[in-house]
Amino acid sequence: MSKLAINGGPKFRETPFAPQQDVGEEEIKLLIEVIDSKELSGFLASPGEKFLGGLKVRELENLWKDYLSVKHVMAVQSATAGLHAAVAALNLGPGDEVLVPSYSMCASATAIVMHNAIPIFVDIDEDTYCIDPKEIKKAITPNTKAIIVVHLFGYPAELEEIMAIAEEHNLKVIEDNAQGPGAIYKGRYTGTIGHIGVFSFNQNKSITTGEGGLVTTNDDELAKRVQLIRNHGEVVVDQYPVDNIAGIIGWNYRMTELEAAVGIAQFHKLNKLNDRRVELAEYLTKKLKQFGDIFTSPTISSHSKHVYFLYPFKFNAEVAGISRNKFTQAMIAEGMPVGAGYVRPIYLEPMYQQLLGYGDKGCPFNCPLYGKDILYPKGLNPVCERMHFEELLLTPICHYPLTEKDIDDFIKAIEKVIKYKSELIS
Ligand SMILES: *Cc1c(COP(=O)(O)O)cnc(C)c1O
Repeated sequence: MSKLAINGGPKFRETPFAPQQDVGEEEIKLLIEVIDSKELSGFLASPGEKFLGGLKVRELENLWKDYLSVKHVMAVQSATAGLHAAVAALNLGPGDEVLVPSYSMCASATAIVMHNAIPIFVDIDEDTYCIDPKEIKKAITPNTKAIIVVHLFGYPAELEEIMAIAEEHNLKVIEDNAQGPGAIYKGRYTGTIGHIGVFSFNQNKSITTGEGGLVTTNDDELAKRVQLIRNHGEVVVDQYPVDNIAGIIGWNYRMTELEAAVGIAQFHKLNKLNDRRVELAEYLTKKLKQFGDIFTSPTISSHSKHVYFLYPFKFNAEVAGISRNKFTQAMIAEGMPVGAGYVRPIYLEPMYQQLLGYGDKGCPFNCPLYGKDILYPKGLNPVCERMHFEELLLTPICHYPLTEKDIDDFIKAIEKVIKYKSELIS
């Protein structure tokens, strides 16, 4: 008789784990205010007060400005829009190389292609899962103009080292902080340390407006450029002047008053939700120790605060005596939310494998203004590939309203799978 659910045995847990979205009365109250005002979006694409959006959008931006202690915050329609606006604001374009980690959500790199620049994929550090500063140094060429840093799973990348490299080589730094609102690096919030930061409030992020995001910067000129790019800037730029109009192709990346209203209520929950993430993650780390060397919990530097958008841990197949993928499948069958790796290394997606972006002639990858051959072969970033295909596990269970009892279930399910692992060895 099989014991493991994957082989037809009883499932360890039938009750699904509660979702992380904490939306309700507070959001409804502010949404009603917007509906009653009849102004569902406050933006107009012409110079004047409404160029910068409605009351709720500006209130949301001000809350974040104070929280982050940053000079400018621009609400946008998504982090993807925000990343594109950041790339455009920095006037990156044809012929420019932009460094980006291969382990991230696709938009971190797509934003580069959207502005006809070339993404150069940089390997990750196997302890932090973030871009490896040593690999950044190796990837710099005379074409390199910027680095997109991702605080993956809510853990800050090594920003001090990265900012020093950037300064030495005159590069701009965009922080993709979609997964790390509230994370701290050396006393400062992530998303405020590079030249531009980007946040996401999509449905699956730690706080949500359905779709939405922010762009942050301490640079007045960059802020103006983002405001123009957000709101049809090419028809406004003569009356809202910037030093250089190149790159001011205005999109519509405006946030509605409805999303901003939800965003305000969500903003006030961020600290509470993050505190709970950290408590549950630390509890899980403590509990995982009973399995000895089978798992490796996240490495946390004393100068960094992890906010555990996801909980990453490594699996040692040799010590466990089963493969990571078999273990993962068995856990999922027991009713446990766990994944083998994150999204595949970005360069393995068809756009990079087939070098097809704009049109069918290979732009921007073979742009004559670039003048180099670029290829993204398998094996390009071996650490990323090893983490993704062999070692990394991710679980989303460290969040409100889940409790220590849910974590205990997860641990007991691991005990069960390990106990009956012989069933997985065929
Ligand atoms: C979610 C995410 C994005 C994109 O966010 P959207 O708001 O959905 O566009 C970008 N980068 C990272 C690292 C993300 O996790």
